Amino acid sequence: MYLCYLDESGTPETGNTSHYVLAGISIPVERWKTCDEKIENIKARYSLAGEEIHVAWILRSYPEQNKIAKFETLSTADRIQQVTSFRNAELLRLQRARNPKLYQQTKKNYRKTVKYIHLTQKERQKLIYDIASEVSTWRFARLFAECVNKVCFDPIRQKATVDVQSFEQVVSRFEHFIQVTNLGITHKHCGMLIHDNNETVAKKHTVLMKKFHREGTLWTKLNCIIETPLFVNSELTAMVQIADLCSYSLRRYLENSEEELFDLIFQRADRKGDSVSNVVGIRHYTKRPCTCKICNAHKKSEAAKLENIGDNSL
Ligand SMILES: [Zn+2]
Repeated sequence: MYLCYLDESGTPETGNTSHYVLAGISIPVERWKTCDEKIENIKARYSLAGEEIHVAWILRSYPEQNKIAKFETLSTADRIQQVTSFRNAELLRLQRARNPKLYQQTKKNYRKTVKYIHLTQKERQKLIYDIASEVSTWRFARLFAECVNKVCFDPIRQKATVDVQSFEQVVSRFEHFIQVTNLGITHKHCGMLIHDNNETVAKKHTVLMKKFHREGTLWTKLNCIIETPLFVNSELTAMVQIADLCSYSLRRYLENSEEELFDLIFQRADRKGDSVSNVVGIRHYTKRPCTCKICNAHKKSEAAKLENIGDNSL
């Protein structure tokens, strides 16, 4: 049995990001314990055992750290104490300035990053790099993703919204991967989707999966994926955090040409056969021609035809 952990990066609506990415990382169920332990061991090295790894919050700049003299030379306890005291003073200042919007936003930023303030920005970058390096070695794992350049997406022509099309694509590719894996073996594998619990997405994806089970997706019948997605708390589930890392790395590569994390994660993209170039698990939906590494590696193949790539080319 394969477990496929899903997470998204960017919003499906037009907004601050040009791209919306839905990524799913699949691992065989018998590997789960080792994967989970490996990630926990890395986190423990950074005094983050049991804490959530939320990549976007971890990698952002914490300006107050730059304002504390020789921050990197301080002990863990001193770093926490000094950042906390700086932040408390800043919240008090914003409260007095009667700027409720900025106050609430700052408060949220502080809440989301409080677990990571004992690490310098370099240490935080190294933490994420170490996790991505670990994932890159998981030869048994497969990465599936739909990366949509929203500027190029026409919901009327596609007869679907950005997030619905992305979900249908990722489900189809995961299903196709298991179908291929099952060829010629007696004990067939099945697959299950696991998603971060978000009320709106949970309802939408459950309804969609029921439809896919009844009618198939646009590209394939569902013979291997069972059930509707299971929804879990990402704060407690390390593998959903890995899906977060994957979707983040794909989006940052496409939007900002950041290659370091992408090059590690992309090694796990589902490929047809052993060919390095024949990526069938990840697609960049954008204007053609595009010379990004995803488009270059996504050569047309039988699997690509199955996913209707040609019809969707812009
Ligand atoms: Zn591209």
